[in-house]
Amino acid sequence: MCGIVGFIGQEQAAPILLDGLAHLEYRGYDSAGVAVISAQGKLQVEKAVGRLKVLSEQIHGGADLKGCIGLGHTRWATHGGVTDANAHPHVSSDGNFALVHNGIIENYEGIKNFLSAKGYSFSSQTDSEALVNLIAYHYAHRTDDDAENRFMEAVRKALLHVEGTYGIAVLCRFNDGEIVAARKGSPLLIGV
Ligand code: GLU
Repeated sequence: MCGIVGFIGQEQAAPILLDGLAHLEYRGYDSAGVAVISAQGKLQVEKAVGRLKVLSEQIHGGADLKGCIGLGHTRWATHGGVTDANAHPHVSSDGNFALVHNGIIENYEGIKNFLSAKGYSFSSQTDSEALVNLIAYHYAHRTDDDAENRFMEAVRKALLHVEGTYGIAVLCRFNDGEIVAARKGSPLLIGV
């Protein structure tokens, strides 16, 4: 079972994400990671195999990642070994989206084949990376109808093609005021 945490607010996100992941440690995991959007719109991603403590030390308790919106993840590997590359968050090959995922995308190979033929590349063995690239694909192929909610519409359209179970949270580097989250067969809570 993995753990997912997202945060948007006035405070620095990374220390809050690490604290949230610490509360989910009981679920068990093999690696951990965080993604934070900087004030300049850059997606900063850090990952580490092992306990949360390893990640926390690597980013000095979160001090290394500046920004008030982000995602955190503790992974329980189902597709691909326990490596830094397979740890979440996963970033789309165009660099615009980061995703954390709990669950299994059953048809990920078909999605990967479709996207590979369109020039998307993959740097992990996970099922989850297929989904973040499918979101990037739908964002790039948006229609005028999507103008109001481009980011959310890209996630919604991508999920129409997904078979399996998921709890996901997604960041878009063009949008530092929004995390898009969705669930199917996996629990997800949103708090204000
Ligand atoms: N299937 C994904 C992976 O292997 C997510 C696993 C999880 O729920 O932690 O990376």
